[in-house]
Amino acid sequence: MVTALQNDIRQRAWDAAAKVVDPEIPVLTIADLGVLREVTMNDGCVEVAITPTYSGCPAMNVIALEIELALQREGLTSAKVRTVLSPAWTTDWLSEDGRRKLKEYGIAPPQKGSGRRALFGKQTVACPQCGSEDTELLSEFGSTSCKALWRCRGCREPFDYFKCH
Ligand SMILES: [Zn+2]
Repeated sequence: MVTALQNDIRQRAWDAAAKVVDPEIPVLTIADLGVLREVTMNDGCVEVAITPTYSGCPAMNVIALEIELALQREGLTSAKVRTVLSPAWTTDWLSEDGRRKLKEYGIAPPQKGSGRRALFGKQTVACPQCGSEDTELLSEFGSTSCKALWRCRGCREPFDYFKCH
């Protein structure tokens, strides 16, 4: 039985956790990313489930810590953060809001529905600056392993592409 009070605590915990941002892309919250999976109540304790974007992404430790701190600020001191590896995160979990924020931040959002398709497929990545689709891959690894470095032939600007997987 979930009581109204428990529901209220769960909602507060969700709201607090949802504001935690990705340390590598600070415009995106973990809710935007789809990293925040669920908040449950276990014996009166709040449990937050997260799914890492990239296995071995060091940012996840920071995110888990930030969630604990955010919950503590809400007075939820006995909260736990649980990592859920299955099903694995995919870029399809990125919210519409998240895609828009990525683009405004100058990072091309992942192609929708392309899921785990290979990076070197027949992929068109639109330039986040001018929208041109005349772009080329410069390096599979951009500023972090989660991003690839592309260049726009239209405006000559290099840009990061949030890699699909
Ligand atoms: Zn461009």
